[in-house]
Amino acid sequence: MGIESKPLKIYMLPFFAQGHLIPLVNLARLVASKNQQVTIITTPSNAQLFDKIIEEEKAAGHHIRVHIINFPATQVGLPIGVENLFAASDNQTAGKIFMAAHLIKPEIENFLKQNPPHVFIPDIMFTWSESTAKDLQIPRLVFNPISIFDVCMIQAIQSHPEAFVLDSGPYQIPGLPHPLTLPIKPSPGFARLTESLIKAENGSHGVIVNSFNELDEGYTEYYENLTGRKVWHVGPTSLMVENTKEKVISINDEKKHESLTWLDAQEPNSVVYISFGSLCSLSNEQLMELAIGIVASNHKFLWVVHRKEGEDDDNWLPTGFEQKMKEKKRGMLIKGWVPQALILDHPSIGGFLTHCGWNATVEAISSGVPMITMPGFGDQYYNEKLVTEVHRIGVEVGAAEWSLSPYDAKKTVVSAEKIEKGVKSLMDSDGEGGEIRKRAKEMKAKAWKAVQEGGSSQNCLTKLVDYLQSVVVPN
Ligand code: UDP
Repeated sequence: MGIESKPLKIYMLPFFAQGHLIPLVNLARLVASKNQQVTIITTPSNAQLFDKIIEEEKAAGHHIRVHIINFPATQVGLPIGVENLFAASDNQTAGKIFMAAHLIKPEIENFLKQNPPHVFIPDIMFTWSESTAKDLQIPRLVFNPISIFDVCMIQAIQSHPEAFVLDSGPYQIPGLPHPLTLPIKPSPGFARLTESLIKAENGSHGVIVNSFNELDEGYTEYYENLTGRKVWHVGPTSLMVENTKEKVISINDEKKHESLTWLDAQEPNSVVYISFGSLCSLSNEQLMELAIGIVASNHKFLWVVHRKEGEDDDNWLPTGFEQKMKEKKRGMLIKGWVPQALILDHPSIGGFLTHCGWNATVEAISSGVPMITMPGFGDQYYNEKLVTEVHRIGVEVGAAEWSLSPYDAKKTVVSAEKIEKGVKSLMDSDGEGGEIRKRAKEMKAKAWKAVQEGGSSQNCLTKLVDYLQSVVVPN
């Protein structure tokens, strides 16, 4: 690595959502730790989400700073401070945040013109960055917070419209390293979105992903051959920034979350953790099916429900459900934010019923927890395939329809029977869980190896910095 080379001025631009912002801020920290000068460009409220971390990085002697730009709240009609999709609970608010992500273009261009960086690394959602970088002649790499496997699925589906002519699935996806099937087809809105995202990679030097090489095995080559662009796997970033030490949950920690205390009292591998991420809003009917399905499975559960404002009436649960579950010591229901990474690391967790958000998927893999998959929206239908058909570290429950947005109410529900079957086949001692669990542990070992010194993600980070130093900005 060119430690002796002059540090590069690198600008990164995270998108306004937790699942995008957290891994790109982590990437900024990792690149800064390699003696580069990194500036994160963001808006006031988003900056507050990570200002403590940046102070810690500065105190450690790393050259990392934040450049604040305006969030065009008045222009898009949002209250001051609502700048992140996490604060949205409907399509209208989310649409305004997306519009704001377009409206910041002139201010960013001004900043780039006045203080040109050596390299610009925006999130893939800023599709306008393609023309900006071209006009200003600034080398650009794209940060894509999902996996290259997903991008390959998107490319394969776009190239083979003939595979999707029938009205109902399953649909075979041709041309990929594995024979894969999608039970339902991508919605036209999602297909249009992904097309514009993939197009925005044009003219870039390549893509950086929050994943590790071993997870995308076969797909990196497929992508590089197809596009001629390079891929850098620098992830899981959450493990890399933690300096690869196992997380310790202190028994006497006063601030210990109630979910962890409850888990301490359970048998190893006995509990199913249920969560649908930070954005997904399930219909009352779907929540009811989930409750019936998990009870019928006869397995213990820790279920986190994020209810939006005005949704806190409890008519989505069977009568007396919460009380009964408590009395019978069958399960715990939590309405609110939980420390997911710590929960997944707890020895009592034996499975994760998940919406397959990319961060949730990578976190489950990092903890060696097998999944029961029930995708909610967007790329999560692809993540399910990586889990159940490529690496076989989970059981597929599937989804009844394809949603573009987490706020779209689904018309059809996944039945309680399907959920019960999925949970049982992973958790029952005579089910297929044993082999799946073994493979999940093996994948965890690969993830941890990738982030150690000499591991694939650490090597990729070094190669990325070398590439920027010598190819993007020749001395
Ligand atoms: N998360 C958490 N506690 C919660 C809900 C979510 O810590 O109660 C974290 C989770 O660990 C993950 C992120 O929020 O890192 C959600 O990202 P993901 O891609 O899984 O799903 P999204 O919320 O974007 O649908």
